Amino acid sequence: MIMAEEIDVAIIGAGMAGLTAAVTLHSAGIGVMVFDSQGFVGGRVATDDFEGFKLDRGYQVILNAYPECKEQLNYALLDLKPFDAGALVRVKDQFIPFSLFSSHPVTFIKSIFNGLISVGDVFKLSKIARHLKKTPLDKLLAETTGSTLSVVQKYDLSPSVANHFLKPLLAGITLDKSLSSSGKLAAMAMKMMLEGPVSIPARGIGTIPSQLASLLPREVIRLNSSVESIGPNRITLHTGTQVKAKIVLIATDPWSAARLLGTQVPPPGREVACIYYVSKKPPVEEPVIVLNGNGTGPINHLAVLSSVSPRYAPKGYSLISITVLEEELKKAGNQLESAVKDQLVDWYGQDVNDWRHLHTYRVRNAHPAAYPLKVWQGGTGLKVREGVYACGDYLELPSLNHAMLSGRKAAEQIIKEVKFS
Ligand SMILES: Cc1cc2nc3c(=O)[nH]c(=O)nc-3n(C[C@H](O)[C@H](O)[C@H](O)COP(=O)(O)OP(=O)(O)OC[C@H]3O[C@@H](n4cnc5c(N)ncnc54)[C@H](O)[C@@H]3O)c2cc1C
Repeated sequence: MIMAEEIDVAIIGAGMAGLTAAVTLHSAGIGVMVFDSQGFVGGRVATDDFEGFKLDRGYQVILNAYPECKEQLNYALLDLKPFDAGALVRVKDQFIPFSLFSSHPVTFIKSIFNGLISVGDVFKLSKIARHLKKTPLDKLLAETTGSTLSVVQKYDLSPSVANHFLKPLLAGITLDKSLSSSGKLAAMAMKMMLEGPVSIPARGIGTIPSQLASLLPREVIRLNSSVESIGPNRITLHTGTQVKAKIVLIATDPWSAARLLGTQVPPPGREVACIYYVSKKPPVEEPVIVLNGNGTGPINHLAVLSSVSPRYAPKGYSLISITVLEEELKKAGNQLESAVKDQLVDWYGQDVNDWRHLHTYRVRNAHPAAYPLKVWQGGTGLKVREGVYACGDYLELPSLNHAMLSGRKAAEQIIKEVKFS
């Protein structure tokens, strides 16, 4: 079947990039239709309602200072709930409050008193903070050329700060315990955390893409519609239906984009697990991230999400989210839950035996292993070839901010280059 009407732009993918592109084009009066193979919008940004709990598909936060998010999202409607600055770090058999920057004075001073931050670190940290603050984001990203580990080494902080705090923090952000991926994401996150809080929306991370989708007419989003192939001025859905479009915008993950373009499919991305437990009493009362500063055991970080936003759990319950990164997943094999439980008992004692395991998400291809990643040759900017454009986080950095930025850039290039009647 061929749909009779030709649409201006057919967007493949209703993740953050595709939705942002759709909103930008729609606001410019250009007709769009967004197709997604899944039954919900948001792609990698999704929340499930499960027995009254909000389960984000992977621990995921928004950094309020993200410039693109600040510009395009309505934070007040998202009702962003901030984490306390810094972290609670597990060092040997203690939990120690820690903050890198003196802009969070109480925790910062505690970090000095408890011996994690040395006097030498204080001077270096204030120099790092000054540099991060005064350097515009574009310039910071351009000047950061090495790996995440090289960012840590360049900061030249004491082994105690680097090993107990910075490494697990940046491993959690890049989803890579080896810290071998590009340092750009780490550098950006450091700047953003200095300029604003880290938050979750009150009713789940999935409310972010839902907010973007609400800016579009309902009928332009076609869910459960997998695009099988693209041709000149048309796309073909899994049902065989062909849709005519002046422009095709591929807003998928890089692996699907390469398949649609017939180019070499990139290597698999990072895998991560997010394990949810429920307890009657929260192991941590404060809205703070708990980092594994010892470097051993499966857990990278833990957060009691209901202590950050009470709407994540029914009254009287606490929702605990635990993140395990790829290297530790491989080590744990099919003993993942029991290895995590053993570490939790070590951290919080026998009370853990009363916690209920609610759900485990294994998220494959969470981030590309290397980025920015180009999955086609030639073209100009985000134009792949005549009539075909692409956007997605992999073209920039794996973050909510850069997925949105990429979507907006693609839409603006289309608006500039294509004449729609
Ligand atoms: C576990 C995890 C934790 C993260 N943590 C953070 C964090 O804390 N902070 C942060 O800023 N970022 C984080 N990120 C990164 C962020 O979520 C991504 O960078 C961003 O969501 C990518 O958006 P996207 O639109 O580029 O891609 P995607 O979200 O992958 O969207 C692509 C869409 O294309 C659809 N699609 C693919 N192929 C087809 C096809 N053939 N036909 C139709 N539809 C198709 C998919 O179903 C999907 O909806 C995290 C990601 C993960 C997975």
